[in-house]
Amino acid sequence: MSQLIYVNGAFVEKEQAKVSVYDHGFLYGDGVFEGIRAYDGNVFKLKEHIDRLFESADSLLLEMPFSKEALSALVIETLVKNHMLSAYIRVIISRGVGSLSVSPFGIPEPGVVIICEPLQYYSEEDYEKGAKIVTAGTRRNNPDALSPQVKSLNYLNNILAIMEAKQAGATEALMLNSQGFVVECSADNIFIVKDGVIKTPTVNSGALNGITRRSIIEVAKELGYPVIEEILTRHEVYTADEVFITGTAAEVLSVVDADGRKIGNGQPGEVMQALLPAFRKYARAIGTKYTL
Ligand code: PMP
Repeated sequence: MSQLIYVNGAFVEKEQAKVSVYDHGFLYGDGVFEGIRAYDGNVFKLKEHIDRLFESADSLLLEMPFSKEALSALVIETLVKNHMLSAYIRVIISRGVGSLSVSPFGIPEPGVVIICEPLQYYSEEDYEKGAKIVTAGTRRNNPDALSPQVKSLNYLNNILAIMEAKQAGATEALMLNSQGFVVECSADNIFIVKDGVIKTPTVNSGALNGITRRSIIEVAKELGYPVIEEILTRHEVYTADEVFITGTAAEVLSVVDADGRKIGNGQPGEVMQALLPAFRKYARAIGTKYTL
């Protein structure tokens, strides 16, 4: 069966899933998106993702074409149409079809695209071996330009950063804010463990308020680990007992090398090894349930 993609009011086959070259999302990165995940017929934290999408849109003065409930129902419908109980879901809201003018005023309606795909990201071997990260020269968005909380279609800083990382043979890019503090990675949040305490950069320092980040904080506390959100430096990453990154696609992935410094003993650490199965259990236990 071919993949069906929701594009502006209709479900179409992948090859027919097209948008106008005058769409402001294409012309200027003018739009917002979410990456969501379904686990065995549960959409993980759908409400939180839809809330964050609406907040991103609000920030860009982009009026959503659907209510939260209607958009959530459309996400489920896309999964069902594709017969997928487990999937990576991408929801994209663009400003819509306009002119070459930068001004979005006068664009009649936003564009809406929903894509569901089987998740193909890290292998079990990646989880067992752990990842290497390098600090990118490209800084995370400065809130005085565009808030890092807006998941906009303009991901160029992050794209520049991941290119730097891949060119250096690393899995992810460590991104700093304009003051040089550690904030997150190109598509993941970051955590460190030192002397049994889990630490992650504050949202105010420029990290996306990741939904996996929030869930890991919850799961870690349930497992009895103290968790602190604070300003972090690269020195603290280099000298941590453990480092791991979190995200919808990655879940919890251990970092064993940061800028050439071996983290801990160079193997995924015990906190991460406790968190990954606990998170996977949690992710399957809660969520918006649906059946095919
Ligand atoms: N930071 C950035 C820059 C991201 O793009 C993502 C992926 N959405 C994350 C962190 C992780 O967030 P979440 O856990 O909500 O997927």
